[in-house]
Amino acid sequence: MQKINVKPGAKIEDYKAYGSLYSSVLDFLEQAKEPIASLKGKTIWMINSTALGGGVAEMLPSQMRILRELGVSIEWLVIEAREKAFFDITKRIHNAIHGSGNGIFTQEDRQVYEAVNRNNLPKALELINDGDIVVVHDPQPMPLASMIKKERKVSIIWRCHIGLEEDTEITDAVWEFLSPYTDDYDHFVFSLPAYVPKPLKKRTSIIPPAIDPLSHKNRELQLHKCIGILYQSGVLDDHKAILYDRYKYLVRKVMPDGSFDLLRADENLDLIYRPIVMEISRWDRLKGFKELMDAFIKMKLDNRKNGNPDSLEYKRIEMTLLVMGGPDPDFVSDDPEGQEVLNELTEAYKKVDRNLQKDIAILLLPLDNPKENALIVNALQRTSSIIVQNSIQEGFGLTATEAMWKRKPVLVSGAAGLKFQVVHNKTGQINEDPTDIEQLSKTLTYMLNHTKDRDKWGFNGQLRVIQNFTLFSQLIGWLQVLANNKV
Ligand code: UDP
Repeated sequence: MQKINVKPGAKIEDYKAYGSLYSSVLDFLEQAKEPIASLKGKTIWMINSTALGGGVAEMLPSQMRILRELGVSIEWLVIEAREKAFFDITKRIHNAIHGSGNGIFTQEDRQVYEAVNRNNLPKALELINDGDIVVVHDPQPMPLASMIKKERKVSIIWRCHIGLEEDTEITDAVWEFLSPYTDDYDHFVFSLPAYVPKPLKKRTSIIPPAIDPLSHKNRELQLHKCIGILYQSGVLDDHKAILYDRYKYLVRKVMPDGSFDLLRADENLDLIYRPIVMEISRWDRLKGFKELMDAFIKMKLDNRKNGNPDSLEYKRIEMTLLVMGGPDPDFVSDDPEGQEVLNELTEAYKKVDRNLQKDIAILLLPLDNPKENALIVNALQRTSSIIVQNSIQEGFGLTATEAMWKRKPVLVSGAAGLKFQVVHNKTGQINEDPTDIEQLSKTLTYMLNHTKDRDKWGFNGQLRVIQNFTLFSQLIGWLQVLANNKV
């Protein structure tokens, strides 16, 4: 068991300094007063299984910084677990909560699962006192809090970051396997109401995942910075020919000191403007990349066949680029499926007419340096005209929230999580069936040709994120849960 140090970072004042966040920060401070006062003298212990990678590790530090600034005592513990057998079991539990796998869990599984958790118990008992609140994230450390509760008078809460919209035989089986622990828990937190399994419904709160607006992935970046980051990172190297048109005008104006002169570029932006349609995700079949590429190609072909070459609409579609980005598989050794999906996409790309290939780019993003990766994602999202998340299944698509925060209109599928995040016709378009190529191509064309609506959707999207999906809306949810569930 390891106690994780949280480095200094943005302060409440820094968030307040952003005009668009100002009033939501004030609301938060007002609403936070009472629950914070009631948590005096208690320590909140967040427990998960990794200090690096994944949404929990990404969001916890900024949440903790804000709460600490307000006087809350909050700590982060990571369980020690090296046994492969343990991670095999927790992965199977994870998959079963998603409804996949065979749903079989044996007595031996339980022994391994509990033994690893029990090894972490002595250290936990050294740190945790009567009256404290223990919050466990995801299945790996779930039994640990049950064990702590037998020794200390604490309240225990389980935060589940995954889920399936329906109860199936497999989900029933995994909840049954977990029931000796869930019976001990005082409260549960899920991301969407639809993900809460029946037996836990009465003891559950909903807190949707959120973003930190000042993190490297989301902080403001001016256009010249975006271009600089993209060129320096090398992610465009294989695609200079494709993206050159979009960026050359700007790059040509690099000053000797490395800064950019954008003034004249702005004057003539219409002449060089090439809309970019972008999806960034893991290389996973459920992210719908192949379907998106097919729809993009169909849109281009239909335009050439039926469009009027003198019209602005024709030219706009003709100029549009598709960029698909995801992790460079060289950096993700534990995901052989990712490599396979990327290969399939690349093979499909090679079969595309050369005339159209030049409008499509597949970008591989380096993952060795989390800050650089975050800045690249930020820059790619900010230089896009439309951000797509064409997922066949999606629990909650952080990419859509990131895009909306950046005032980008989004095109998403009707997957449960995305439907919860995006309001059709207000913050973008929901294209129900991500595998309906014809309809997807129509929606894309519609969005491209409604430039004023796109601006409006972008603005509405940012507002929606500020009101529902930032660090502050999430913290209010947490403070209420903590205040209502203390011993
Ligand atoms: N992401 C990234 N680099 C990539 C692809 C994705 O940093 O090459 C990030 C993306 O910005 C988002 C997260 O990974 O923050 C993906 O979260 P999401 O909820 O969209 O999907 P998941 O991967 O959890 O299914």
